Amino acid sequence: LEDIKAVDPQIADAITAEFGRQSSHIELIASENWVSPAVMSAMGSVLTNKYAEGYPGKRYYGGCECVDVVEELARERAKKLFGCDYVNVQPHSGAQANMAVQFAVLKPGDTVMGMNLDHGGHLTHGSPVNFSGTYFHIVPYGVNDEGFIDYDEVERLAKECHPKMIIAGASAYARAIDFKRFRQIADMVDAVLMVDMAHIAGLVATGLHESPVPYADVVTTTTHKTLRGPRGGMIMATAEANEKYNFNKAVFPGTQGGPLMHVIAAKAVCFQEALQPEFKVYMKQVADNAQALAKGLQDRDIKIVSGGTDNHLMLVDLTPYDLTGKAVEKWLDDAHITANKNTIPNDPKSPFVTSGIRLGTPAATSRGLKEDDFDRVAEAIASVIKEGEDGVAKARKIVDELTDKYPLK
Ligand code: PLP
Repeated sequence: LEDIKAVDPQIADAITAEFGRQSSHIELIASENWVSPAVMSAMGSVLTNKYAEGYPGKRYYGGCECVDVVEELARERAKKLFGCDYVNVQPHSGAQANMAVQFAVLKPGDTVMGMNLDHGGHLTHGSPVNFSGTYFHIVPYGVNDEGFIDYDEVERLAKECHPKMIIAGASAYARAIDFKRFRQIADMVDAVLMVDMAHIAGLVATGLHESPVPYADVVTTTTHKTLRGPRGGMIMATAEANEKYNFNKAVFPGTQGGPLMHVIAAKAVCFQEALQPEFKVYMKQVADNAQALAKGLQDRDIKIVSGGTDNHLMLVDLTPYDLTGKAVEKWLDDAHITANKNTIPNDPKSPFVTSGIRLGTPAATSRGLKEDDFDRVAEAIASVIKEGEDGVAKARKIVDELTDKYPLK
């Protein structure tokens, strides 16, 4: 950080403090991860200096021969990783990817089905506070009393409202998603099937979750969650869907300007890493750790929505302890465990208060934690939930042991 220190000591101090925070805390935010030095270096490279509006071979600026190589490599590797016909690696974020797809496929006022935010969906799947819920007529679907997507209800709603698009995918859903069933429902009503696999992309890349690519017309993702790449988004589609909707045009000039070439380079590095056998070992550990965490919590009488998890995350239901997600998030933070409050299905409390906590294993797995360690993490979380502020000291002791055992480099 010497260069930054010389110019801007305040920012250098904040970055140093953030490294200290990440080192001394156990990161359980399900959407976060710890990137490799190679991914980090690509993001901090000279590519940040380059304007490259357009696409490889067809740019609006000169001097793009090197960034063309970067973007081509990113595209080829993404195609290999996910087996898709078409890919666009330019979206600045997951939300931008979703906006571009909706801009390409829909007209204002069209009917769209997306998973209810309160049941685990994402803002961009039709929340009234998002562009998606403002420009389109949204018919939300959700989970049944057991916490699983109610596919029969999805089918009933689709037949009733005849959506132009059905969005599958979620931010806080712990169960495997049946993309084949979504395809069948979309076909019954002649809807476009968009899958947002942002959370599970790493599991999909390694075959640990069924891939949506063979079923969906278009798939979006982020690259920074389970995939362990830079912050960013991506769009994949069948050749037919791309022919019809022209997703390149929807990204640029439709919804974005110049691509972030340093981030695209980091995406290429991330895909290269994800194609290696070690990444599969990592993802398997993420999934095994999620099982260990869910079991550790349930063995200590903590309720998990839907009774467990099939992926990297889980939702803790705090209603049996009459606690709010807001209070537990704060106590966990005091114990140096970072997690986020989250609504649970049919939550009576607001999104700022909530009755749940979302927990995920990708970042702590990157740090090296294994199943036994996650059982200790479960012990720490259970003591906070059961004893409130009194449980914080005990939890903090466990966290200190684990952060010493697995130092961040
Ligand atoms: N889609 C899903 C399913 C997500 O969970 C998220 C982020 O949490 C996004 C899209 C948005 O990604 P970003 O924050 O990069 O805009």
